[in-house]
Amino acid sequence: MAVVKNNAYGLGVIEVASLLDGLPEIWGLALVRAEDAFAVRQAGVRCPILLMAGFSESEGEELVRSNVTLSVFDDDDPAKIRRLADRLGRKIGVHLYVDTGLGRMGRLHSRVFPWLDQLMEWARLKGAFTMLTSDDDFAREQVSLFRRLKTGLIERGIEPGLFHAASSAPALHQPESHFDAVRPGILLHGSLPGGGPGEAALIDLKLTFRLRARIVRLERLPAGSTIGFSRFYPIKEPTWIATVPIGWGDGYPSAAENGALALGGSGRMFKVVNVNSNHTNLLVGDEKVAAVGDVVTLMGPDAAKITPEGMAQRIGGHNYVQIDFKDYIPKFVL
Ligand SMILES: *Cc1c(COP(=O)(O)O)cnc(C)c1O
Repeated sequence: MAVVKNNAYGLGVIEVASLLDGLPEIWGLALVRAEDAFAVRQAGVRCPILLMAGFSESEGEELVRSNVTLSVFDDDDPAKIRRLADRLGRKIGVHLYVDTGLGRMGRLHSRVFPWLDQLMEWARLKGAFTMLTSDDDFAREQVSLFRRLKTGLIERGIEPGLFHAASSAPALHQPESHFDAVRPGILLHGSLPGGGPGEAALIDLKLTFRLRARIVRLERLPAGSTIGFSRFYPIKEPTWIATVPIGWGDGYPSAAENGALALGGSGRMFKVVNVNSNHTNLLVGDEKVAAVGDVVTLMGPDAAKITPEGMAQRIGGHNYVQIDFKDYIPKFVL
């Protein structure tokens, strides 16, 4: 089950969903905004879609008509599902979202029954899911709670459907959490959930995207110049400085100016020396080894230093950086 929330982790929910649709490895998509589900359906995606969030009454009907599976967990859901089933003249297929200890979303596991019995008058259970913590020992307890829930359903004569618990980290680290499907998000795009070299040994991944921009200005700044609003980057010798039209307002991390690199032509790496809201400056050096119009790769699989993990190591912070990419960034599927 491919998680494509957060605009598919910044890479474009329609582009990513369209690529994944119909792949034999993929059961379907999971997302958290009804608008995304509608947009993806409108783009022609046909695989199953699970909405892992609540729904309003008005959205509910359109979601079901769009063949999007609803999640249930709320006290109000039996009444909502009953009205929906009445309107549509059939039982509503649902996944049960269970809180086994993350304390964030879902039906608290101890409160599933008798609430679920009531719901089953109008719903058909197609599956159940939970989210695990990153505390391995506690996650094992969560997994056994979740397994007991499955037994409880079967004992009540309820077909449990598709059970799924593992996001990227447990998919890598906890085989006992795999159940019928795993539910990775970040991992799909070639990033490691923990960002550490320890995980790289567990799975051979390749980053699926490049963040690229063209040089729009290349200037030889004289000695004594400075770069940046606070003039923090001093130019001691005449130096070629490139400008690319992307910045923290577009989702490129502002901390990149603390030592990130960008890949230019012929394998050359340029140091990032300034990031503003829509501009980033690169240190090209004392030789003019770049040109206006050149494409530079700010993130990508081409060198370890510019992957999200390599970047996080150089500038601090986490490796889920692509989540911040603004949805207007043009996307090209190669
Ligand atoms: C975000 C999310 C995932 C995927 O998480 P990753 O760490 O990106 O793999 C899976 N399940 C649920 C319920 C989520 O909210």
